[in-house]
Amino acid sequence: MDQNPLLQTFDYPPFSKIENSHFKPAFEESLKEARTEINTIVDNTETPTFSNTIEALEFSGQKLGRISSIFFNLNSAETNTELQKLAQEISPLLSEFSNDLLLNADLFKKIKSVFKDKSSQNYTQEQSMLLEKIYKNFTRNGANLNTDDQKRLREIDMELSRTSLSFGENVLAETNNFELLVKDKSELNGIPDDIKESAKALAEEKQKEGYIFTLDFPTFIPVMKFAENRELRKKLLLGFGSKGFKDNEYNNEENVLKIVKLRLERANLLGYKSHADFVLQERMAKTVDTVQTFLDNILDKAMPSAEKELEELKAFALEIDGIKDLRKWDKAYYTEKLKQKKFDLDEEILKPYFKLDRVIEGMFKVASKLYHLTFKQVNDLDTYHEDVITYKVYNEENKYLATLYADFHPRAGKRDGAWMTTYKDQYKFNKKEERPQVSIVCNFTKPTKTKPSLLTFNEVTTLFHEFGHALHAMNANTTYPSLSGASVYWDFVELPSQLMENWCYESEALKLFARHYQTNEILPKKYIEKIKESSNFMEGLQTTRQVSFGKLDLSWHALDSINSIESVKNTENSAFKNIELLPDIESTCMSTAFGHIFQGGYSSGYYSYKWAEVLDADAFEYFKEEGIFNDEVAKKFKENILQLGGTIEPMALYKQFRGKKPNPDALLKRAGLIKS
Ligand SMILES: [Zn+2]
Repeated sequence: MDQNPLLQTFDYPPFSKIENSHFKPAFEESLKEARTEINTIVDNTETPTFSNTIEALEFSGQKLGRISSIFFNLNSAETNTELQKLAQEISPLLSEFSNDLLLNADLFKKIKSVFKDKSSQNYTQEQSMLLEKIYKNFTRNGANLNTDDQKRLREIDMELSRTSLSFGENVLAETNNFELLVKDKSELNGIPDDIKESAKALAEEKQKEGYIFTLDFPTFIPVMKFAENRELRKKLLLGFGSKGFKDNEYNNEENVLKIVKLRLERANLLGYKSHADFVLQERMAKTVDTVQTFLDNILDKAMPSAEKELEELKAFALEIDGIKDLRKWDKAYYTEKLKQKKFDLDEEILKPYFKLDRVIEGMFKVASKLYHLTFKQVNDLDTYHEDVITYKVYNEENKYLATLYADFHPRAGKRDGAWMTTYKDQYKFNKKEERPQVSIVCNFTKPTKTKPSLLTFNEVTTLFHEFGHALHAMNANTTYPSLSGASVYWDFVELPSQLMENWCYESEALKLFARHYQTNEILPKKYIEKIKESSNFMEGLQTTRQVSFGKLDLSWHALDSINSIESVKNTENSAFKNIELLPDIESTCMSTAFGHIFQGGYSSGYYSYKWAEVLDADAFEYFKEEGIFNDEVAKKFKENILQLGGTIEPMALYKQFRGKKPNPDALLKRAGLIKS
């Protein structure tokens, strides 16, 4: 076992020495070590104190944490079937460990005694926050309940995870079972060639004549946007909208009702009025009332624009195609057509101005202007793939701040999308400060021998977004790892990332890097204007749509009794009442395929998309008021938001930065929904 690099002491992950076979024994060994550390806390005969209980728990399992971060990061960025199989074996071990920990009554007794004694102690803000976080983590898992209720809670959790799983499986089956076969090519006008090609290939694969369209997003979206054939759009939308709502074995109505009922029962057991009350206690928004008022306010202000936009869309559809009754299957199509007519902004025109290397340089320049950081590429760090670039980051005093791994291009074994993650968080332990190791992973087109990697504008904002998360992690300056960097409430975590995107729309920032890769010409102003204007196109309809999803989420989860529910479709219709402006389609239902809230972790959290936008718009308004590279504002953002992580309640942090609470009008102004 001496040879296992994961079980040796290391500062940087020893990627090149790690083999798949090292993981299982490393997990087993470090789990054993973590259990021993916890037993030491429990067996300690001294009076429980912050130091011998809370702090000891916070710093237990460090080895396990590092091995987990390496394993799960690799499983996302550079996986293979062997690693995936290992994940199946390792995940239950980790769940078992965390269950045993949270159900450890002796340990909880000690935590509770330190918690009860809180007011007689002189804790720092950060210590109080950690104590509260750990105490709540246990109580929210039932540590304070009697044995019978605890047993019921476990049953509910098991039942919930089974039902969510079945919900997801049904949606997947409905997606996979759907196919729309079109025999005649002339019915496919407008659809991009590559989509047609893959539809044809799919038909061939299934030994059928013609083209097969599925409900997968890469097919569904372009067809809805570009297919001139109205009947085709209608068929595909009905297929998409009726997932889990048909009279077949994959119907999800019962699952929805069951999940809602179990979540309510769970919340009640733990002493909350509703599931949303339970969830929101651990969010910046805090209460159902705050969220409802927040959504209603945005809705009120966005509705007039939405109505106007829809009228414009109807008039346009009538004008060009004689459509008198605009339906849901027409919306994306005419929106796209109208957008093309108005802005004529082709992605291909912009791409030459966004060469990846230059965008990275520009991004670093923006960070250097704002936070006085320097990025030095280094070549001596071990990486998991030759594409990974490494940087050492230094602060304004030229002191080492963090290490940044950047992995930009797609390959087999990397999952879709873009994300930020860490190999080590920042913290202080035994008077020694550990600086973070941060990674951003994206999927941008790889350069070829003749052409560099050129980004779409959307990819540019994606890169700035992930870099914003990285800045949160890299600037962290806290004592405890679980309160460090991006370890904050999740309706707050998107503030640093979304804030960074704003610089991509400013000519003062764009001129730092947006130059044609062949002619060196700076991105013309007319394009910048167009980018800005088109980003607000049909914003009223977009906004009201997002708000309606947030309302639907709450209409399921803010209930304090399920007696009022008549049917899934009924509940949904009343949530969308007066928001959805196009006629309802009886055979479709959103809830029965709303994976975000019935399968993933977004229940009572859908509002946070808009919430985070309000935060970043309001924060950027401050920059705009004082200058987008203003030193004072940047310093305030760094010292109050980036450095303090989760050590203080986010609303308090925000007010320290901004001098006041966030104002939703900033978002509505930026989106062009109200006048500045
Ligand atoms: Zn993000």
